[in-house]
Amino acid sequence: MKDANVSRHPVNLILLGPPGAGKGTQAKLLMDRFSLVQLSTGDMLRAAVAAGTPAGLEAKAVMERGDLVSDALVVAILRDRMAEPDCAGGVIFDGFPRTLPQADALEKLLAEFGQALDAAIELEVEDEVLVKRIVGRAEEAKAAGQPVRSDDNAESLKVRLMEYYKKTSPLIGYYYAKNKLRKVDGLAEIGRVKSEIDALMEPA
Ligand code: AMP
Repeated sequence: MKDANVSRHPVNLILLGPPGAGKGTQAKLLMDRFSLVQLSTGDMLRAAVAAGTPAGLEAKAVMERGDLVSDALVVAILRDRMAEPDCAGGVIFDGFPRTLPQADALEKLLAEFGQALDAAIELEVEDEVLVKRIVGRAEEAKAAGQPVRSDDNAESLKVRLMEYYKKTSPLIGYYYAKNKLRKVDGLAEIGRVKSEIDALMEPA
């Protein structure tokens, strides 16, 4: 798949990795290159919190602590969004699924919409680097006068990392068993990671 304008089957990708692995950055690059829709459940939930919707009210305190929001709530938000026509051309899932029940739900949702998953791309990064990146992200935002994410602090980060290892990392084995797992070195610089993902996309 080289050109977004060439007609192609929808490509559905998951970006998998701990907080700070670069999922959001790579999702945005992929979105531009392949005209895919980026669905970040974190962004959707932050929007719901900002808008004060019932889902947002339920999620706010959980997110601030760094815990995971319930599967039912996240899956419901995602289902509504996937029903929109722009998702028919393919989606990059950023921050979803984060639990095994969410992975099962995604498979069913994609099937409901006549689609299938192409690959789960794991961005591999060491913990020490993650902590530095996230703390750096908060400091940069602060210095630039931008809002700092309420969960970008050392305390919430510890919880987010624990949540990742307890609940999300089993997905690596899950997608490996389904022959969908592709690994990328998330420590390389952004352009290099992008090229590695491009190479994986070639046969898609
Ligand atoms: P993110 O922007 O992906 O780092 O997500 C920020 C926060 O939103 C997470 O720490 C969770 O509290 C919540 N969240 C985002 N996506 C999910 C998900 N798929 N399942 C449960 N909670 C989620």
